[in-house]
Amino acid sequence: MRVLVVEDEVRLAENIAAALREGPGYAVDIVQNGEDAIHLCRTTSYDLILLDLMLPRLSGHDVVTQLRASRNGTPVLMLTAVSQTSKTIELLDAGADDYMTKPFDLGELISRTRALIRRGKGAGEPLLTFGNLRVHTGEQSVSHNLRTVELSPTEYRILEYLMFRPRVVVSKRELLEHLYDFTWEHHSNVIEAHISNLRKKLRAVTESEVLETLRGRGYRLASVS
Ligand code: CA
Repeated sequence: MRVLVVEDEVRLAENIAAALREGPGYAVDIVQNGEDAIHLCRTTSYDLILLDLMLPRLSGHDVVTQLRASRNGTPVLMLTAVSQTSKTIELLDAGADDYMTKPFDLGELISRTRALIRRGKGAGEPLLTFGNLRVHTGEQSVSHNLRTVELSPTEYRILEYLMFRPRVVVSKRELLEHLYDFTWEHHSNVIEAHISNLRKKLRAVTESEVLETLRGRGYRLASVS
């Protein structure tokens, strides 16, 4: 998953990004003003946007209004200062999905981030299932018929992304864009190695071809016993 953090307090932005990278293992991009946020959202598909309210150039309120006007439905979690809490109704009405008041607990921020990403993808529950394959997004664990499948962090992130839409073909570019930050193009070759390892591990435990490669089109979770 890939998250955009829009926050002009540099240290806070870096703390949030570190927590998201280390905890749920998200790719994170940071920008410090509203205009850059709008610009990036035109070219990059994010799984969540963390948006500060008081920003240089365009405010967080203006950013969320413009995103929704351009039919961008990416979940938005607003960050506001205590003195701005009266604004929260306005923000939710403008299209924000949730808000947190500064100072906030990073653990709570991560939990809300997970929940919003899940709901943004149409999954209410933290447990994703496909046949007898189970991915628990909270614990970041995978099992098949109650047998644990040991995956590396990158293999887990690939599987989690695909599990939100089993049977749908996901292009290599989409996968790269959602698993890595601005540097995604540099990972083009290594992702194939990760996918190959993930395929072998899934095959070994399920005895079926779970992860399919469609040449020139991408990857999908095809079937599982
Ligand atoms: Ca600010």
